[in-house]
Amino acid sequence: MSRYTGPVCRLCRRETATSKTGEKIKLFLKGDRCLSKKCAVERRGTAPGQKTPGKPSRQKVSEYGRQLREKQKMRRYYGVLETQFENYFREAARVPGQTGKTFLQLLERRLDNVVYRMNLAMSRAQARQLVTHRHFRVNGRICNIPSFQVKPGDVITLGDRSKSSTVFQANADYARNRPHPEWLALDDAELAIKVTGLPSREQIDTPVDEQLIVEYYSR
Ligand code: SF4
Repeated sequence: MSRYTGPVCRLCRRETATSKTGEKIKLFLKGDRCLSKKCAVERRGTAPGQKTPGKPSRQKVSEYGRQLREKQKMRRYYGVLETQFENYFREAARVPGQTGKTFLQLLERRLDNVVYRMNLAMSRAQARQLVTHRHFRVNGRICNIPSFQVKPGDVITLGDRSKSSTVFQANADYARNRPHPEWLALDDAELAIKVTGLPSREQIDTPVDEQLIVEYYSR
């Protein structure tokens, strides 16, 4: 299966339109634009293909439908393909403990997600690109694998040339002035990220009900 290359705002609008509560769900796939008035969810708030804004659909959604939508929402949120997403679930299911929590932790510990969470990239797509372009080092070694799993004690740094590049100069101020998760620490001067622990469920603000996804894969 190939990567989705169409307009990503459509994906957000799809999730908003299926929200039962009428709540505006944003997947934050386009960086700063997501917080501006240009955001398609704010401007239109309709499902792709729906012409006029209206009330949330009154069509009854099956239990399977709810589970499927929750799975799609989380997969799109982290920008992971179907097979890899399912592999994360299988891995989480093997670990003793709460499968849903472990599943979320595995996705949070991806290197591209860590870079995005620390605001060194405007979106997960940009974080992914920066990682594949070999800008980051994990414990001193270049790592160009976006799905690389960080663990407590790891230190993620930028290459010397990367630090002075325009993209990181622009993102550095942004990173210093924005809050970041408690399980990650930022060295402001060096733009180095230290992984201080594993994220707890409370520290992961992903707006999903992971239990529905566990049920989806446990059918
Ligand atoms: Fe979603 Fe961001 Fe597009 Fe808004 S701008 S619809 S939050 S991807």
